[in-house]
Amino acid sequence: MNLSYLSLGSNMGNRFEMLRQAVSQLATHAAIRITRISSLYETDPVGYTDQEPFLNMVVELETELEALPLLDVCQEIEQNLQRKRLVRWGPRTIDLDILLYNQDNFETERLTVPHPRMHERAFVLIPLLEVNPGFEVVDTFEAEGVRLWKSYNSIEEFLQDTHC
Ligand code: ATP
Ligand code: CA
Ligand code: CA
Repeated sequence: MNLSYLSLGSNMGNRFEMLRQAVSQLATHAAIRITRISSLYETDPVGYTDQEPFLNMVVELETELEALPLLDVCQEIEQNLQRKRLVRWGPRTIDLDILLYNQDNFETERLTVPHPRMHERAFVLIPLLEVNPGFEVVDTFEAEGVRLWKSYNSIEEFLQDTHC
C-alpha cells in the first residue's frame, strides 16, 4: 500500500462544491482510501495575483495505484469538474497536485515528486502540516494570506456538508 498527499485548490464557480466533489470522487475510487483531510483554507492568489481567492485543502490517502496512475485519476477528476487550461497559475475550477508519494523522489516528463514548488507555498504547507505535523518543512515560511475557512471532525461530515 502506498501513502500519498494531494493538494486541492479552486477559485472558480462554487469553490466549496468543487473541493467536495473532488474529494468525493477520490473517496469512491476503488483503489483509493482517504485517511485524513485538512481544514479548508481561503488563500490569496500567488504568482498570478489578479484573480479571486482560492479555497485550498490537503488530503492524505492510501492507494494501490502507482504514482502515474494516481496522477491520471487526479487529471480525470479535473476533467470531470470542467477544468479549462487558460492562464498558467490562473483561475481554475479545480486543481489536484500530488505533493508526496511514499518517500519517493523522482522527475519524469509528466510528474515530479515531491511537488517542486510545495515548500514555497504556505497554502500547501499549512494544511499539509495540519494532517501530518511530523513533516519537516522549511522552518521559515510566510503564513500571510492563508485564513482558516472551515474545519470538519470527519471526512464523512465534510462529504455530507451540502449547505456551504
Ligand atoms: P503548479 O504545478 O505550479 O502548482 P499548476 O498546478 O497550475 O502549477 P498544471 O497546469 O495543473 O500546473 O499542471 C501542469 C502539469 O504539471 C501537469 O500536466 C502534470 O503533468 C505536471 N506535474 C508534474 N508534477 C506534478 C505533480 N506532482 N502533481 C501534479 N501535476 C504534476
Ligand atoms: Ca497547482
Ligand atoms: Ca496542477
